Amino acid sequence: MKVHDNILRALSLEGKVAVVSGGASGIGLGSATKLAEAGANIALLDVNEEKGEQAKKQIAALGVQVIFIRCDVRMAEDCRNAANKVFDTFGRIDILHNNAGIAVRKNAVDLEPDEWDLALDVSLKGQYLLSKYIIPYMKKGGGGSIINTGSGWSLRGGENAVAYCAMKGGTLNMTRAMCIDHGKDNIRVNTVCPGDVDTPMLRSECEQLGGQYNDDYKTECAQRPIARLGTPEDVGNAVLFLASDLSSWVSGAYLVVDGGGIA
Ligand code: NAD
Repeated sequence: MKVHDNILRALSLEGKVAVVSGGASGIGLGSATKLAEAGANIALLDVNEEKGEQAKKQIAALGVQVIFIRCDVRMAEDCRNAANKVFDTFGRIDILHNNAGIAVRKNAVDLEPDEWDLALDVSLKGQYLLSKYIIPYMKKGGGGSIINTGSGWSLRGGENAVAYCAMKGGTLNMTRAMCIDHGKDNIRVNTVCPGDVDTPMLRSECEQLGGQYNDDYKTECAQRPIARLGTPEDVGNAVLFLASDLSSWVSGAYLVVDGGGIA
């Protein structure tokens, strides 16, 4: 057997099932693409049905089975139904990329209480809810890998981002708690921390701050050792590593994917 056969086997997700929340767009679609390229069957969860159906077609073209489920990750009932539907469809759940999120760019004085609730409900509560209903299915299958999307702002503060920093900081430490609780069931839990990635969310952040999402803005965001914006595929490759057996002893960790911005 050649060495590279071992590596490919560890990276392969053939026969596995991955759930990706926020899978209709941006980073979620990028990770679903990479997980599918490695052979996993995919369940895309999102509130955007139109983009979800488009994403489903895109992933199906890679030759794996894929379903789209409308799921608002803030809602316990939606998350429970989605977990049950994925298990009923595929008979197992091995990977969960907890990725749905929204950008809310305000300081504490300007931020309204309902905006705080919305931001934390989508990103942080949503990650807890899907984990709650999917972990029992992972246990049935003998283990799994959960990847929670954090941010560079899981690790440091940012301007006009009080709710965003709270939710992404929360993701990081919730990941550690889940790692401790579920390691005995062979479930690994890690955080991926992207820098600025060229997605509709980055556009929304720019517009919320009164800017225009043009080349000048993108060049400004790209000031880092690897001087470009990230792509959803850049983050998807990191998710694939954390989902695969290549990372079989990595849990409770965070992987920064930001072109060296952290340095
Ligand atoms: P995006 O807007 O392209 O995708 C987010 C997806 O989440 C959308 O499809 C949206 O419909 C979905 N979504 C929103 N609310 C939802 C809900 N209640 N239930 C289910 N789905 C919902 O944004 P993105 O940039 O791909 O962001 C994905 C994740 O990456 C987010 O958690 C975000 O905070 C994080 N992130 C993004 C960047 C960046 O620069 N783009 C950087 C760091 C972290």
